[in-house]
Amino acid sequence: MAPSGTLTSFRLPPLPTIREIIKLFRLQAVKQLSQNFLLDLRLTGGWLISAPEMSPPHPWGRGPGDLARTLWARVQDKIVRKAGNLTNAYVYEVGPGPGGITRSILNAGVAELLVVEKDSRFIPGLQMLSDAAPGKLRIVHGDVLTFKIEKAFPESLKRQWEDDPPNVHIIGNLPFSVSTPLIIKWLENMSHRDGPFAYGRTQMTLTFQKEVAERLTASTGSKQRSRLSIMAQYLCSVQQVLTIPGRAFVPKPEVDVGVVHFTPLTQPRIAQPFKLVEKVVQNVFQFRRKFCHRGLGMLFPEAQRLESTGKLLELADVDPTLRPRQLSVSHFKNLCDVYRKMCDEDPHLFAYNFREELKKNKSKFQEKDDTERYRL
Ligand code: SAM
Repeated sequence: MAPSGTLTSFRLPPLPTIREIIKLFRLQAVKQLSQNFLLDLRLTGGWLISAPEMSPPHPWGRGPGDLARTLWARVQDKIVRKAGNLTNAYVYEVGPGPGGITRSILNAGVAELLVVEKDSRFIPGLQMLSDAAPGKLRIVHGDVLTFKIEKAFPESLKRQWEDDPPNVHIIGNLPFSVSTPLIIKWLENMSHRDGPFAYGRTQMTLTFQKEVAERLTASTGSKQRSRLSIMAQYLCSVQQVLTIPGRAFVPKPEVDVGVVHFTPLTQPRIAQPFKLVEKVVQNVFQFRRKFCHRGLGMLFPEAQRLESTGKLLELADVDPTLRPRQLSVSHFKNLCDVYRKMCDEDPHLFAYNFREELKKNKSKFQEKDDTERYRL
C-alpha cells in the first residue's frame, strides 16, 4: 500500500475486457438483484459509441477520427473522473460487480481501493484484478447496507469537519433498489458525522435512476422537487454531473441513469436532528399537490391541529398557501426550528403519528358500528 502523501503512478496491465470477464466467469445478470453492468463502451459529449462503431485511426495520425477519439472516454472513466482528483485517495467502491468502474478507479492513481460486493460470483474476477494491482485492491464479500467503513481506512486520514474534505471517496453503481435506501442511511450518517463521515466530509459519486438523480438535485419550485431534494440539499452540495443512456448497460434498464456527486456542507442548512427534519419533510410532501398547511397539520393531534398548524406557520413565517415544491430549504429550516420548540414544550408531540390516531379512530368507529349492529 502506498504511504499517504507519496505520488503514485500506476496503470493496470492489459486485461480481458469486461464482456470477456462476464463470459469467462459466467456472470449473467441476476434479475432479482437488479444487476446491470457497464461494458467497455465509450461516451462522447452526449453519444455512446460501441467498439465496432468507432471510426478507425486516421492513416496520418490526424483527422476527424483522432478528434473524436480525444473526446471519447470509457463510460467508467467518465464516472470516476467526476469524483475529482483521486491521486493517493482511499476509495470505497460499492457493488463492483465485474469490475468495470473498479479498473478505472485503480488507473486513477489511488492509494487503496476497498470494494464491497454481495454476489459471490464476482469475487474470482475481482481477485484477478487484485493480482494485477498488487497491494491496491481489498475485496470484501459483504453487504454495503451493513458494512462498517469507518474502521476500514487509516485513522490518519481523518479531518476536522470544517477542514477540506479528506482524501476518502465513495463511488458506486448500485441497483436502484439499494441506492435510494443507502443514500438516506448515508445522509443520516452525515448528520451524525459517523459511518463514512467519521473521516470528515467524505465525497460520494453515485448512480441513480435518472428521475431520482433529478429529485436529489431539484431546485425550489421545480417539478421534481421532493422529500429527497430537501434531505440531500440541507446537508450537502449536490450536483448531477453526468447522464448515462440506459443502453450503456447490459441488460439495458428501462431508464437512463444519472451520476450524482455529493459534498457534505461544513454547516448543515438546518441545525436540527435528522429524524425531526425527516418527519417535517415527509409530512409536507405526503400531500404534494395540496397547500403546505395540509401536510404540516398532520404533525399535530386532531384536537389541536388547526391552532398548532396556524402557530407553526406564523412563527416560521411561511405562507400556508405555498405548495410543498415551492418551499425552499430556508422555509424548512424555519419550520423545523419552530416545530422543535413546540416539541420541547410538549414532550408527547414528537412521538405523535397521525396514521396511528387514524387507525385508533377507525377501530373505535368499527367497534361502535359492530355494537350497534348486534343491538339491532
Ligand atoms: N459496478 C458494476 C458495473 O457498473 O458494471 C456493477 C453494477 S450492478 C448495477 C450492481 C452491483 O452491486 C452488482 O454487482 C450487485 O451484485 C451489487 N450489489 C447489489 N446489492 C448489493 C449490496 N447490498 N451490497 C453489495 N453489493 C451489492
